[in-house]
Formats: sequence, structure tokens, C-alpha cells
Amino acid sequence: MFPTPLATRTWGEKMRGLAGKTTELRYEGIGVCQGVAIGSVFLVDDPRGRIVRMFIPKHQVEAEIKRFREAVRAAQRQVHQAMRRFQEVFSSERAYILEAHLMMLKDRNLGRQVEDCIRENRVNAEWAVRDTSNHLLHIYTKITDDYLRERGSDVADVAHRLIKILSGTKARDLNELAANSIIVADDLLPSVAADLDPRRVLGFVTSAGGWASHTSIIARSVNIPAVVGVRDVTGRVRSGETIIIDGTTGTVIVNPLPETVRFYIELRERQQAEQLHYIEERELPPVTRDGRKVELRANIELIEEIETLQRFNAAGVGLYRSEFLYSQAASGLPTEEEQYEAYKFLADTCGEDGAVIRTFDLGGDKLHLDGFKPERNPALGLRAIRLSLAVDKILRTQVRAILRAALHPDGNARLKILLPFVSNLDEVRRAKEIIAEVERDLRAEQIPHAEDVEIGVMIETPAAVIMAEPLAREADYFSLGTNDLTQSLLAVDRGNENVDKMFDPMHPAVLRAIKYVADSARKINIPMNVCGEMASNPAQVIMLLGMGLTDLSMTPSAIPAIRRLVRSIKLEDAEKIASHAIALETPADVHRYVQTHLNELGSQFFATAHFG
Ligand code: PEP
Ligand code: MG
Repeated sequence: MFPTPLATRTWGEKMRGLAGKTTELRYEGIGVCQGVAIGSVFLVDDPRGRIVRMFIPKHQVEAEIKRFREAVRAAQRQVHQAMRRFQEVFSSERAYILEAHLMMLKDRNLGRQVEDCIRENRVNAEWAVRDTSNHLLHIYTKITDDYLRERGSDVADVAHRLIKILSGTKARDLNELAANSIIVADDLLPSVAADLDPRRVLGFVTSAGGWASHTSIIARSVNIPAVVGVRDVTGRVRSGETIIIDGTTGTVIVNPLPETVRFYIELRERQQAEQLHYIEERELPPVTRDGRKVELRANIELIEEIETLQRFNAAGVGLYRSEFLYSQAASGLPTEEEQYEAYKFLADTCGEDGAVIRTFDLGGDKLHLDGFKPERNPALGLRAIRLSLAVDKILRTQVRAILRAALHPDGNARLKILLPFVSNLDEVRRAKEIIAEVERDLRAEQIPHAEDVEIGVMIETPAAVIMAEPLAREADYFSLGTNDLTQSLLAVDRGNENVDKMFDPMHPAVLRAIKYVADSARKINIPMNVCGEMASNPAQVIMLLGMGLTDLSMTPSAIPAIRRLVRSIKLEDAEKIASHAIALETPADVHRYVQTHLNELGSQFFATAHFG
């Protein structure tokens, strides 16, 4: 939740010298990862963080054009390769999308437009590709024929591929370009946020986003102070201006006065001291005052995050969002071997506590598979288990890797499988058939693998809630995804700043749904854990504990506050609070009521409590 002392101290000292202006501008957004960051603005022009405008001196223009031409050739090679892979995995008729991309890449006319842009405007190739494609996209929007107009998305796809090639492993470059800065963008993709190095980038601010969007979840995972939902923020700042962000309150201050800078430096020091305090408590057992053990596990998106398990003393990984392997893989979907390596590492590191590998939750607001057209409504589209079953080779490869990696000499599987975004019992049945077939194949091939790996179902759609009992008969365990569940139950986009206040897991409808699922799991006698962001929030955790949910997986940096909460409450009190809150009729009533109990528990939870 806090920037590293090294980075912040350097900037703290600098700021004392820099702040000398007489006006400051304050903006409010949604603080999604705590901590104060003080730095200078680094404007980024696209969610992927790749497009930064650079001036090219005259003598380097031809070299820049050569760089562009090489990128076009590399893109052609990539598309050919993707077509081959695509035809192996998917039906061949879908490859026509990639054929269209290849034609565009071979179109000399298009290439000439980009080269003219580099030459005339003396800009870098990334910028020229973006500029030219924007111009083309604008023309496409005016076409009346539906089919032709839709081809605009192919232009965007090709431009995206070229920019990606030109900028290489761009997130690393972004770290270098923005070193000691605060990134300001309209939006950032979760995969870009995941690649930010908190030792180099001090924080970020975006116009788009909400508390439970994946970009915000990632900010908390990589522990980088962040504020989202600041309206038109890119139009309100200039690169190089001094900026302070407070990731707890969501305040953003541009050109701060010297006394403001002093205030925030002190606040940051207090927060860092508090952080150390938390770390000292890491060995204290997470047991309620009336003796109930609560499991505190970690949600992990990147394999590198595994070190946080030890730092926060987590009981293994309760949710591994495996789809982030896709953004890190060399090309396209990660291979069986790439996946095996990652899962084996998790299995070895987590030991007996184990790790839950969620099968790819591609789509939604996360990552999109190359070659698939962007969807109009991705949150409700061909995502997660739907995609894994539609193209079952994806699931088979992943399951092979999981079963192989789960094997442990003591005979107990160290990994569990989790199926995301289930909305139909048949999806679970089909996935189980596929898993059984993969097991048979591995046996026939005499490849060592674990038997009887547990298969869990994520409860994150209203259909899964209503069908909780029959689903519980098919599943080895439930995992409650409160982020998608809140989104779909309340019909509120989890990543939309305009409705962020309505995104509220404390809404009685959500609480009642959770209670029904918890009771169903108990009735059918299967375990249930919670892996949505609700498990990271003290006020909301009281509700979960009160409903008997004592296996919680959360963003690792939330573990200290939740440990403290668990140790300061009695389970029987949580039960009383939850049963009263569930009977209330409006979210505001629930917040008011729970707040009084938080007040009684002490002020230490206020900073971390998020009220929708
Ligand atoms: C959820 O929806 O609550 C969840 C844990 O999954 P994700 O946030 O990755 O969609
Ligand atoms: Mg989800």
C-alpha cells in the first residue's frame, strides 16, 4: 500500500525544493490503493501505456522509418504464426479475421501514410501509427454499411499489434520513461498496471475505473498508490507538473503549496510507521476473540507476487488469476510447459497450504485473446469458462499443466482447480468430463500427475446463486467472487467511475445472496471460501464472518488489517451484526449500522474500510 522508502525519500527531498507555487488544484477520485505518492506528472496517452510522443531529429527520420518497416515485417510474421496456431486450435473459418489483418499489413498505401506522418511531423513510429489509425478509424465510423463499418476494429487491432512490436516489452519501457513519476492516463489496462514497478513509478491516476476494476485490484497487488475515476484528469495536468496523490482518500493535488507538500510528507511517514507496526503483527494467529481460526490467503495475479505470502504470512494462495500468464507469455496463450513451470512454482512455494488455480478468466475487462473480435458487452460475453469450453483445447492444455504440477510425493495434490463465471450446471459437468479425459490421457501416456484434484466452482453470477444447491452437489468447494457477483446482481459496472458509489457489496441484495449460497454449501456439506474484494475490507469481512465464512482470500497487502480485525472481534458478535444487517432494507441502513460497530472496535479500521 505504500511506495518503497527508497523511492519516496528521494522524491520527498526533491519536493521540498520544488514546491514554490502559489496556487494548487485539488481533484477528487476514488482511492484504490492506499499510500501517498509525491512526484511529477507523466502523461500516458493510451490504456496500454505504449504511446508517448517523441520528437525525432531530422537525421534520424530515415532510421525511424526503417524501424517502422521492420515492425511491419515482424507483424506479418506474427500474424502468419497466429494463423497457423489458430487453425490448429480453432476452426479454420475464423482465421479470416487474421487474413484481413495480413492484407492491411501488406497494403503499401497504408504504410506510406504512416511514413509520411513520421517524415512530416518528425514523430516516433508509435505515434505515427496511432495518428494514422485514428484518422482511418474516424473515416470508418462514417461508413453506413454495417459490415464495412465493423472492419474498423481490424484497423485498431493491426495498429495495436504494430505499436506493441514497436514498443517492445513496453511496460518495462514505461517504468524507465516514467521513473520517479506519477502516471496520469484516461485508463490503464490491468496488464499494464501489473507491469509497473513501484520502485520506479510512484503511483498512477486515471479518469476511468472503480474500486473493484481489475486495474484497481492490480494496483493493490503491486502496492502502488492509485486514484481512479478523476474526471478528465488528462486534460487538467501537464507532463512534468508536481502532483500528490493520496490513495486512501482519493485526493489528487496538482502544483501543491509548500505546506501541502509538508503535510503529505508527514502523513506518508506516519503511514509507513503504521505499516511497520502491521508487519510486526504478522506472526499473530488469525483467531477471533472467541477462538475461531480464520484462514487468510492471498490472491495472486503475477508469479512474482508470491514473495508477499511470506511478507504477510498468508496461508497459501486462495486465488491465482492464471489469465495474467497470457499477458506475460511470449506469444499467444501460454504453452503447457510455460503453465506447468508457473503452477509447479506455486505448488512448491505454497507447500501444504496449497494454491487454487483458477482456469483462464479471459475476456471481461481483463485480457482478450488474439484473433477474437472485441465484444459489445464483454462482461457478459464469451469469457472465462465459456471460452474455455467453446475452445476446449485451452482447458485441456491448462488442466494437463495443473494436474502435472499438483503432484506431490506425499500423494496429496497441492493445487486445486477453480472454474470461473459459471452460470449453468452443464458447464461444470462438461468441465469435469474434460478434466477426467485429460487424466485418462496422462495415465495412458504414463505422465506423472496428481489424481483427484479438487474442482471448485466460482459463485459470481446470479444464476449460480440461485442454483447453489445443485451446483454444490457437483462441486468439491465453492469460491465466492464478490466482484462479479456485485456487478451482475446490482447491474452496476465494476469498472465505471460514474456508478462506483452504487457498486456496493453491502447492498442487502448482495448480502442476502451470499447468505443463501453459504447456507446451501453448508447444507450440502462442501467448504466455501471468499476470494472477491469483499474479503479485503474490514467492515465487509464482519458480514462474511457473521455468515460463517472463515476462509478468506484477499489482496496480500490487506492481510494485516484483516488479521487485526479478526483478532479484535468475537465470531458470535459478527453473527449478530450480520443477521441484523441482512434484515435491513437499504445499503445506507447497512452502512450506518455496521459503522457503529466499527467505531466500537476502534479507529484503526477506518482507513482501510471502503464504503461503496
Ligand atoms: C470476483 O469476481 O470476485 C473475482 C474474484 O474474480 P475477478 O475479480 O478476477 O473477476
Ligand atoms: Mg470474477
